[in-house]
Amino acid sequence: MNRCFKLFKPIQSHILFLQNKNLATLVERRNPNYAILTDSDFAFFERLLGKERCVDDTNALESYNTDWLKMCRGNSKLAILPKTTSELSEILKYCHEKNLAVCPQGGNTGLVGGSVPVYDEIVISTKLMNKIINLDNESSILSCQSGCILQNLDEYIREKAGLTMPLDLGAKGSCHIGGNVSTNAGGLRLLRYGSLKGNILGLEVVLSNGEVLNSMNTPVRKDNTGYDLKQLFIGSEGTLGFISGVSILCPQKPKAANLILVACDGNSFKTVIEVFKTARQELNEILSAFEFMDRESMIAVKENSNLENPFDKEISEKCNFYCLAETHSSDEESAIKKIENFYSKLSEKGLGLNGIIAENKSQFKFLWSLRERIAESLTRDGYNYKYDISLPINKMYDLVMDTRKRFKDNNAEKEFRRCIGYGHLGDGNLHLNVTSTTYDDKIFGLLEPFLFEWTKANNGSISAEHGLGLKKRNYIYYS
Ligand SMILES: Cc1cc2nc3c(=O)[nH]c(=O)nc-3n(C[C@H](O)[C@H](O)[C@H](O)COP(=O)(O)OP(=O)(O)OC[C@H]3O[C@@H](n4cnc5c(N)ncnc54)[C@H](O)[C@@H]3O)c2cc1C
Repeated sequence: MNRCFKLFKPIQSHILFLQNKNLATLVERRNPNYAILTDSDFAFFERLLGKERCVDDTNALESYNTDWLKMCRGNSKLAILPKTTSELSEILKYCHEKNLAVCPQGGNTGLVGGSVPVYDEIVISTKLMNKIINLDNESSILSCQSGCILQNLDEYIREKAGLTMPLDLGAKGSCHIGGNVSTNAGGLRLLRYGSLKGNILGLEVVLSNGEVLNSMNTPVRKDNTGYDLKQLFIGSEGTLGFISGVSILCPQKPKAANLILVACDGNSFKTVIEVFKTARQELNEILSAFEFMDRESMIAVKENSNLENPFDKEISEKCNFYCLAETHSSDEESAIKKIENFYSKLSEKGLGLNGIIAENKSQFKFLWSLRERIAESLTRDGYNYKYDISLPINKMYDLVMDTRKRFKDNNAEKEFRRCIGYGHLGDGNLHLNVTSTTYDDKIFGLLEPFLFEWTKANNGSISAEHGLGLKKRNYIYYS
């Protein structure tokens, strides 16, 4: 029984961190209890899936072995691509019997080194488990395989039933719904539609011994018949089971989605909090997302992704914080009135330097891209030290300022390129990012465990939504 719940990934093993030697010490040696892949194992998988769904070519394996940030790289010799739950079950049963370690992989957009092998685990990719199983129009419940790409699902349910997915994130074009569930992804609209813990109505999960648990047969909103086992798998990052199917409640696609970008007036983060409070008061039930980014984030998307700051020079030079407030409603005209009223209130209170309301789809997309493409922009700096922290809202930006101060106090200002803060303000979720041209021991030493200690002292969580993966695994006790 114990074996059935063993971790999928070896606890002690190694990963080739491309640059960060410090992190490599996290995983010093491969757990010798796990078997090494043999020719007869290869033959088994080829018999089961066919040669084309067993990737063993070194070049083709590169993308399965390397994470999105290009900071973690495993050394898997085999990636396999099941199409059905029964194939997945056969694979896991076999690996269990042979004691072969595996690494579940969805869209490989995870940011904490959890989606790639640590050593030579077999990558089991959900790429081809991408079928829609059912869309129940009446109850707005979508059932699908776990490898469906989030954006494809959103487009499908919009066309078929005028619905939308209850989550949205910058990686939507690549991440899989199974990966989203495994990480309990938050994203841009958690403020409005809540966490996946509430929206997932059923899961199909294959345990490490091949046994299938299925709660997708009764995808109902209310079910109090005993323990809600599926909750255990949401956010468990592939350590308890392999998610093969998902039933999810999808809200109605709003008739109107509107957006305002506010250039905040004032140097202090208190202004941003006041802007948020005003948004809650004035936009109230139609507020669907509230994001903030600091001046340095805006500079990063300009420098690295060529996205122009839409405000004029005078404002962009003065502005320290930007906020994006999005509304979902059934009436465009009244939403726009509310947004205008919201901005008037900001002006009255001296909180806004200027605001831009998206007037059409392309402006809407552009304004969102300023926020959504920060992560991608930062990768172009070189090395990215990435932190995803939950904090009480009034403490959020103190952490960014204290980190900068720490660099200054330790004469490390020249070593790093940027230290920036942005994130899901409405959820108290700060993305603190530091970049440098190449990995630097000194910067790393100044950041960890300082940031985790700071977070603990301020009653936060060291992983708001990205999960622990490999990078944060040893710091779980700080939250
Ligand atoms: C540009 C960008 C923006 C992002 N924005 C956000 C954001 O706003 N909010 C947020 O929460 N995250 C965000 N992320 C992080 C990432 O996209 C999410 O964690 C996403 O949910 C991962 O999905 P995936 O399919 O890529 O999973 P992967 O990266 O492939 O895997 C993530 C983890 O889940 C496990 N896993 C994957 N599939 C399964 C499965 N079927 N069964 C069991 N375990 C599985 C993997 O082993 C790994 O531990 C962002 C990433 C990028 C690159």
